[in-house]
Amino acid sequence: MRILVTVKHTPDLQSQRSFTDGRVTRTAEDGTMNELDENAVEAALQLVEAAGEGEVYALTVGGPDAVAAVRKALQLGVHHALHVSDEAIAGSDVFGTAKVIAAAVRKVHDEAPLDLVVTGMAALDGLTSMLPTALAAELDWSQLTLASALSVDGGEVTIERHLPDSHETVSAPLPAVVSVTDEANKPRFPNFKLIMAARKAPVTVWTLSDLALDPAQVGAGAARTTVIDASPRPPRADRIKVTDTGDAGTQLANFLIEKGLA
Ligand SMILES: Cc1cc2nc3c(=O)[nH]c(=O)nc-3n(C[C@H](O)[C@H](O)[C@H](O)COP(=O)(O)OP(=O)(O)OC[C@H]3O[C@@H](n4cnc5c(N)ncnc54)[C@H](O)[C@@H]3O)c2cc1C
Repeated sequence: MRILVTVKHTPDLQSQRSFTDGRVTRTAEDGTMNELDENAVEAALQLVEAAGEGEVYALTVGGPDAVAAVRKALQLGVHHALHVSDEAIAGSDVFGTAKVIAAAVRKVHDEAPLDLVVTGMAALDGLTSMLPTALAAELDWSQLTLASALSVDGGEVTIERHLPDSHETVSAPLPAVVSVTDEANKPRFPNFKLIMAARKAPVTVWTLSDLALDPAQVGAGAARTTVIDASPRPPRADRIKVTDTGDAGTQLANFLIEKGLA
């Protein structure tokens, strides 16, 4: 079984966020692998382990700092790390990003066929959840989204989807693109041996020319979407801090009564 997992380099959730020209400011110091991609890595590793054979590739698209995302995936146990980095990619919207990831997937698939691409359910910075669908469209592969469980058997992938008012079991022929939710599994912790090995493990770096992509197809110039404005949320003006001097419960009850909430 051969699986490629997409892992995005995103600002740490605990860090102070800021914007530059309407886009998330990315710095080397506070970047990490998108937390929800840990579920994608775990799902891929579990499938390969269950099959008793196979290999997992982790792929990131981003500037030089994004290598941290694939190093984290190596710590978790993936076998190969791929990093697509090219200045011309900067400013790509989801369609441009999907084009780059699709070209990298095809390059791996052409060397030896992949069974699956597994992605996270959302990148915790962009948070569109559009990438998996755009990627499947670029590849012209089946797509199954928001899997809370998945299995592969007889040339098919089957997933469970928990929707607000229904529960679906859906199958698709391989190769396919599957996005997994945070319900899919409990990501493992890296062990010391893998942490040490990940430091020295080779990371294959590809530019657009390695992927036979024309720079005009990606980047800001090719973006079909525009960020009109982005700004930090203003602090809430209506916050009240209740200091407990023994009557906090009364204060809270009075507040609720005053607001007509009790
Ligand atoms: C006009 C415009 C300009 C932009 N310019 C930039 C820019 O200069 N630099 C920049 O970093 N972003 C830029 N972005 C944001 C970038 O396009 C999105 O982050 C990207 O398309 C993925 O969308 P998302 O973050 O919503 O991912 P989602 O669709 O929420 O992600 C779902 C899953 O897809 C995978 N995934 C997503 N992105 C990547 C990736 N890069 N590598 C590997 N796996 C991935 C992950 O597994 C993730 O869990 C721009 C967006 C717009 C609209």
